[in-house]
Amino acid sequence: MKLTQYRLHVLAFTFVSLPLAGILATAQSAAPPRAAAAAMRDAMDRTIDPCTNFYAFACGGWLAHNPVPADRQRWGRFQEVQDRNYAVLRRILETKGSDADRRKASDYYAACMAEPAIDAKGVMPLQADLAQIDGLKSRDELPELVARLHALGVNVLFRFRADTDRRNASAQIADVDQGGLSLPDREYYLKTDARSVDLRDTYAAHVQRMLGLLRPGAGRAAEAAAVSAFERTLAEGELDRVKRRDPATTDHQMRLEQLQALTPGFDWKRYAAAAGAPAFQRINVNVPDFMKALDRALGSTSIDDLKTYFRWHLVHASASMLPKTFEEADFDFFNRTLAGQQEQPPRWRECVVQTDALMGEALGKAFVEEAFGPQAKPDMLKMVRAIKTVMKQDIDAAPWMSEETRRAANRKLEAVVDRIGYPDKWRDYRARVVARDDALGNMQRARAFERRRNLAKIGRPVDRGEWDMTPPTVNAYYSPDRNNINFPAGILQPPFYLAGRDAALNYGGAGAVIGHELTHGFDDEGRHYDGQGNLREWWTEADGKAFETRASCIADQYSEYVAAGDAKINGRLTLGENVADNGGLRLALLAYLAGPGATEKSVIDGLTPEQRVFVGWAQVWCENATPEAERLKAATNPHSSNMYRANGVVSNMPEFQKAFSCRGDAPMVRQNACRVW
Ligand SMILES: [Zn+2]
Repeated sequence: MKLTQYRLHVLAFTFVSLPLAGILATAQSAAPPRAAAAAMRDAMDRTIDPCTNFYAFACGGWLAHNPVPADRQRWGRFQEVQDRNYAVLRRILETKGSDADRRKASDYYAACMAEPAIDAKGVMPLQADLAQIDGLKSRDELPELVARLHALGVNVLFRFRADTDRRNASAQIADVDQGGLSLPDREYYLKTDARSVDLRDTYAAHVQRMLGLLRPGAGRAAEAAAVSAFERTLAEGELDRVKRRDPATTDHQMRLEQLQALTPGFDWKRYAAAAGAPAFQRINVNVPDFMKALDRALGSTSIDDLKTYFRWHLVHASASMLPKTFEEADFDFFNRTLAGQQEQPPRWRECVVQTDALMGEALGKAFVEEAFGPQAKPDMLKMVRAIKTVMKQDIDAAPWMSEETRRAANRKLEAVVDRIGYPDKWRDYRARVVARDDALGNMQRARAFERRRNLAKIGRPVDRGEWDMTPPTVNAYYSPDRNNINFPAGILQPPFYLAGRDAALNYGGAGAVIGHELTHGFDDEGRHYDGQGNLREWWTEADGKAFETRASCIADQYSEYVAAGDAKINGRLTLGENVADNGGLRLALLAYLAGPGATEKSVIDGLTPEQRVFVGWAQVWCENATPEAERLKAATNPHSSNMYRANGVVSNMPEFQKAFSCRGDAPMVRQNACRVW
């Protein structure tokens, strides 16, 4: 399952579920400080000069012993922690609980696991939806059909949802955005190099195969070509990822009639009514040009071809709960071909991931009750306070900032809300219907439930208590429209954090993660939002220019890095994350040196306290990945390859050069060191 992220600045791009019980027990029984030191030592490769390749020095041991398993696209510390604990999550789902929501999660999981029953039903559970598509007679009937497909999580044509009003961050309004593609990015449809052309041919063959599985005798090459051509037209109308980083490019609030004028061929009032959205007058149209392209595409495509396009998207979105032939075929293209994953993961893992994605707070509640360690929250809050203090000092000392901008920056920093662990109020799943013998129906009802919950927000005030990640998630995020930093319980684990461990490692791990999320409020995107989460310019023009100059240094630096083969990192796409990584580690180091590091002089395994902060950071990113997965990440993901999240940052820091006594001409000492924060 993919979790769709809107304007969230997450730490890493994998969304994984992590129960805490197992790891806390293991770590505590193994005497935390000694075990942590051993883990640090074993991951390193001392034969490498840290001044030449710090990532290889810090991670070489781990990398050598952890090749990518055949059923993964990547294997790193995030996945390692997740994997050790999936078994516990599975146990919770396979054990009867007294809590009603937890029982529903167990039923969801059980239905997902019942593969013989899924196989026996064939495509029968899709028949009603297929019949509705077959029944489409004219474009006039599109609004109702599209609303129905959207409710099932079938992302055709465009995306429609409730979102924060960017001019008034306490309110929520309707929001419509580009969408309707199947390949990971518009560039996959438009690039003309041989690899891209090949990939499109393979994609068309896959669409044809799936349509043939759906209806024996169907699935002609012409049908697949029609799907590709239609999606390509939509792709041409899309705004690319780099341009979208500037929030101004997707900020177009208008009256519903104005949207209607952009797409005369699609009735928005009927669509909104069919979707069950509350009545509204104003809507943010992220990409007006896309809406025009959509209208043209709908007008110039035959009804039969549109039906084929809808059928393809329906079967693709349902594949995980259809018979194995469908699931395997979809895996073959989207995972094996696109991401280099050789084998399907065991079914239970897929079902655990999906249950977490669609009933996460029912499951997360059980984790927290069983296993949330008492020390994690106070320890984290202490680090958050220390890091905010040094961030204020950093803002106060920035030589390139005027007093006016400085004051506004400090006001924004003071307004940042910290959230650790899990929501105060759990989501209510009472209205959710889950049947132990209806895997596809459960998934459809779950998606429809989440969609209703989202659309009901249109016109209502923002609920700032909500979380965008489930508690067992090993990740963290900053929300620009809420100006909060969020650390789910799942990430408060080694290698990020461990109660009682060497503070240098906790600051290099969890501390730098805190600094990273905090810095997002002041990166190329976050800086356009004020302390209340409103999209509002609070920078003087000169200060904005000074920021851009400094940020450009980082963009140019990372653009030189190679992700895989001829695929390079896009320094503009990854700018915000790289700024956050650079700021985050610096803040964590300064906070450590002003706190526990002020008196700490111990040398552990030959490493000084400062050196251990750097090693702690780099070791969070130890990871092997398939070349295909790295290529995909470079094309679509705002995070740089993990090696550069370590090396790109330390090579900008004079503190690193000093800590490891690197020569001025060492590879990890950049002559043109970049610094924003
Ligand atoms: Zn981030």
